[in-house]
Amino acid sequence: MPLPPIAFDNSYARDLPGFYTAWQPTPAPQPQLLKLNRALADELGLDADALAGPEGLAVLSGQTVPPGAEPLAQAYAGHQFGGFSPQLGDGRALLLGELIDRHGQRRDWAFKGSGRTPYSRGGDGKAAVGPVLREYLMGEAMHALGIPTTRVLAAVATGEPIQRDRVLPGAVLSRIAASHIRVGTFQFFAARGRHEDVQRLVAYTVARHYPKLKDAENAALALLNALAGRQAALIAQWMGVGFIHGVMNTDNMTLSGETIDYGPCAFMEHHDPAAVFSSIDHGGRYAYGQQPLIARWNIARFAECLLPMIDADPDRAVAAATAVIDAFPAMYASAWLAVMRAKLGLAGATPEHDETDRALAESFLLLLQTQGADHTLAFRGLADGVEGDNAVDAPMSGVPAGRALAQLLPDTPAREAWLARWRARLAQQPQPAGGHAAALCRANPLYVPRHHRVEAALTAAVEQGDLTPFDELLAALQQPFDTLPGHAADAEPAPREQTACYQTF
Ligand code: AMP
Ligand code: MG
Ligand code: MG
Repeated sequence: MPLPPIAFDNSYARDLPGFYTAWQPTPAPQPQLLKLNRALADELGLDADALAGPEGLAVLSGQTVPPGAEPLAQAYAGHQFGGFSPQLGDGRALLLGELIDRHGQRRDWAFKGSGRTPYSRGGDGKAAVGPVLREYLMGEAMHALGIPTTRVLAAVATGEPIQRDRVLPGAVLSRIAASHIRVGTFQFFAARGRHEDVQRLVAYTVARHYPKLKDAENAALALLNALAGRQAALIAQWMGVGFIHGVMNTDNMTLSGETIDYGPCAFMEHHDPAAVFSSIDHGGRYAYGQQPLIARWNIARFAECLLPMIDADPDRAVAAATAVIDAFPAMYASAWLAVMRAKLGLAGATPEHDETDRALAESFLLLLQTQGADHTLAFRGLADGVEGDNAVDAPMSGVPAGRALAQLLPDTPAREAWLARWRARLAQQPQPAGGHAAALCRANPLYVPRHHRVEAALTAAVEQGDLTPFDELLAALQQPFDTLPGHAADAEPAPREQTACYQTF
């Protein structure tokens, strides 16, 4: 099936010369389509059947650059684990071009794993099948959870072996993002004293992601404030679902407010603020509970790039930027409270309940932590606890047998006291349509990408070439709030010993 023309409109290439290097993908020698995201293709106005055909595969594998695409590698810098690298950039990624989707939103179409670029440093520019499929699952899961994220349009095996700690099958993915502008993009120019370029990037970012700020008196300060708000909301959502990004370097913080870079990320099982899964995060810098603090730290690095634009007087610039950075904890606290309220069935509560509800949420999390309870199932199980019988056979929530709240949390006075407080508070809220239990099921997923399920799906795909477990897991992750027949295993936590030694790379 011939591939219809693709209506690229490449604003980054057009508006920001000097911010990138025009570059070509390395063609995959023997491409094979592993997975095409048909729903996303459709949203982008692309012909999914044609993409799955030979002409589509040639594009998705970097063999053919379609008319209208202007592939380029973006320059960026970044603080990695706290240390500044003045030059990172797209070392194995390539922006193919931009599309306007069916909702009128501009989206980047970029490759990852499409070969070396001028920014590759020591790297080979390649990606492996396992991590590419993992990124696909994670992005779809986050999207279905309602969390802003980049998504994978297609995963293609290249037919080329790549060298890691062992030889692995290579792959290239197509990543769709609101944009790939990062805090690190600003840092690249600020570190070189190219303040006019920072200014151009501020204007471009405001026009693309914060159009309401276009008449702001102080565009840089307004952008700083807006990014702080968006990141506060994003991190609060991560915390709600137990997501640990794992590598919150400033080059992995987007200006759009989307989650990006599904490298060492993981979903926490038993609730633990110190949870870390990344093999390279020795100090726990990016532990679950650290994420709001790191977000603020990253926002401060962003602010540093903008100082000359915020005010010509350095002291006044620092004072104005500091005010935003100091406001971040309150922005985050309010975003977190909104997330936790929804999870506790208290959506729409009025400010007079702020302190009560915050304390209620904090004490629930403390209960989970001290009991080592599964984060996802404990919240989901609340749907069965509304009536006060701690229903053991979990009729509403769909939690697997033996995983009801009453079984996750042992029968202690602390549990009973908390449940009594929560039920009393719930009784003060108007019943949402369909009742509290149904609302709790709409706010608390049953399925998140659990390590043991993800690993099993990837092992089958990589070692047996069998994508059935991948597709089955994906189906659950795409409907995380529904109870699906035949998916009990996808809701099961891994055995504790397995979680204790789980590592991401
Ligand atoms: P990350 O840790 O994924 O955020 O990547 C940090 C930097 O390393 C970015 O500039 C990436 O483009 C680069 N990078 C990561 N893996 C590779 C690779 N295999 N080849 C070339 N560059 C890479
Ligand atoms: Mg990255
Ligand atoms: Mg990465």
